[in-house]
Amino acid sequence: MEIKALEIFLMNDQPFTCPYCGARCETLADFYHTNSKRFVQQCLNPDCRFICYEEEDEYYLKLWKVI
Ligand SMILES: [Zn+2]
Repeated sequence: MEIKALEIFLMNDQPFTCPYCGARCETLADFYHTNSKRFVQQCLNPDCRFICYEEEDEYYLKLWKVI
């Protein structure tokens, strides 16, 4: 798995879904408590298995009073 090649998608207030097929995703890795504020998400659709980063939008960080 080539982590550096992963695309980044911004988090929103809905559960993260695959940007290609719309299926639910599971969190493979949690970097939320690091400076990057990212999750690695993998699509649960067995025909897709798309992997990407989910990254928190600054708007929501402020909304949730994280920053
Ligand atoms: Zn998918």
